Amino acid sequence: MKIYCIGIGPGGEEQMTLRAVRALEACDCVAGYGLYLDLIDSLIEGKERIQTGMTREVDRCAAALERAKQGKTVAVVSSGDAGVYGMAGLLIELAAGTGVEVEVIPGITAACSGGAVLGSPLTCDFACISLSDLLTPWDKIEQRLRGAAAGDFCIALYNPSSRRRADHLARACDILLESVPPETVCGTVRSIGREGESFSLTTLGALRDTPVDMLTTVFVGNSRTVVIDGRMVTPRGYRGV
Ligand code: SAH
Repeated sequence: MKIYCIGIGPGGEEQMTLRAVRALEACDCVAGYGLYLDLIDSLIEGKERIQTGMTREVDRCAAALERAKQGKTVAVVSSGDAGVYGMAGLLIELAAGTGVEVEVIPGITAACSGGAVLGSPLTCDFACISLSDLLTPWDKIEQRLRGAAAGDFCIALYNPSSRRRADHLARACDILLESVPPETVCGTVRSIGREGESFSLTTLGALRDTPVDMLTTVFVGNSRTVVIDGRMVTPRGYRGV
């Protein structure tokens, strides 16, 4: 009895690993948020689909687990990487003691795929911080932002905004601006690997009022991050500057 927990990358098919494609081929049944299943439509033709809304993760994983117990080979798909704000942890928790084996298959997370669109912002040490307070209290998010700022980390901000909380990014910027200079290089990338992919470069001071949505990943540089030929780059230091 087996469940594959698969990260499909930012935009589906083209950015999936071969391992992920092969695991999907081996499955009878695929569970995931509707949009993600659409992204891999051509790979899952004819397979049973377990589709629930964005916030029904527990139901979706439980349903997938039931199918696996019935002897089906099941895939649960997440965008990006399945272990980065994805389904892998939940699935392992739910499968514990059931005899169903969970295999986690990694995918390209938005920090990496978005970083590639911008140039190379995450060359050195970096932190990923989600601004969603659905499952993490806001004071914990603030603590992590201050910690990353104190450590001069580059930061990839996931879930920078939602309909419910449109001011997340502005609040996060205000916290970073307590210790990080406003001229720090920043970038935003939207719809990575999907139709309409776009990006912009800005500064921390201006990022505060930059419109972002749930499909955006935000990058905050460190004290050495620069713009070279329109690309956001944190030099590794090879050239000694
Ligand atoms: N498991 C995913 C992250 C899910 S959290 C991963 O590893 O990438 C959802 C957040 O991820 C979004 O709010 C956004 O910040 C980021 N994200 C995921 N896919 C994206 C895409 N195609 N383009 C831009 N940002 C994306």
